[in-house]
Amino acid sequence: MTVINEALEKIQAAKKITFLTGAGVSTPSQIPDYRSLKGVYAGIEQPEYLLSADCLNHEPQKFYQFVKLLYHPSARPNVIHEKIAALEKTKSVWVVSQNIDGLHNQAGSKNVVNFHGNLYDVYCRKCGQNVSWQDYLVCDTHQDCGGQLRPNIVLYGEGFTDATITLAIKAVEQADLIVIAGTSFQVAPFNQLLYYHKPQAEVLAVNQTALAIQEPFTMVQCAAEELFDAIKI
Ligand SMILES: [Zn+2]
Repeated sequence: MTVINEALEKIQAAKKITFLTGAGVSTPSQIPDYRSLKGVYAGIEQPEYLLSADCLNHEPQKFYQFVKLLYHPSARPNVIHEKIAALEKTKSVWVVSQNIDGLHNQAGSKNVVNFHGNLYDVYCRKCGQNVSWQDYLVCDTHQDCGGQLRPNIVLYGEGFTDATITLAIKAVEQADLIVIAGTSFQVAPFNQLLYYHKPQAEVLAVNQTALAIQEPFTMVQCAAEELFDAIKI
């Protein structure tokens, strides 16, 4: 049996699946990993600074110009998002995503934890009001109060809310199968979520490059869309 078939059987058999997804799940929707945007600034500044609380506070225009590059409003969910959403019809499914593009929500997944937030959720730092992302892309000043707008994403130098962490842990704890998809799984604290799985839960990973995880798991080394395309609903 090929490793893809083995993975498909595990997915079919599982009753409670939690997907942990990363950038490789969004690239088939033509969303580049922000790290690949380095070229835009030709090495002058790292994306880690441009997406930091420091930059937002001290060089707001630089932050705004960079964060605008991350918006791809015409991007649509691909086969990975669609199959994950469709699995909800017959199984208990949770998704914890590192992605900030909201594509799992757009595909119709209900139990989604956007671990790093969602670009399309924008609010005013001064008055707290929610503002549409369309308005934000025109101007980063709130028309009503003059406050600075920002997307509800976790920036470098910012902490995670307890509510997000609690929900993500709950999602991992309840699963009998964990599927890590489209991520090299090296970014903490996201990769630490795996510690919370049930002892008897199985772990499956699908990614272009092999993962290094300190416990037994099944590695499917291919583009994530290849495996998801083969899932029968
Ligand atoms: Zn305001």
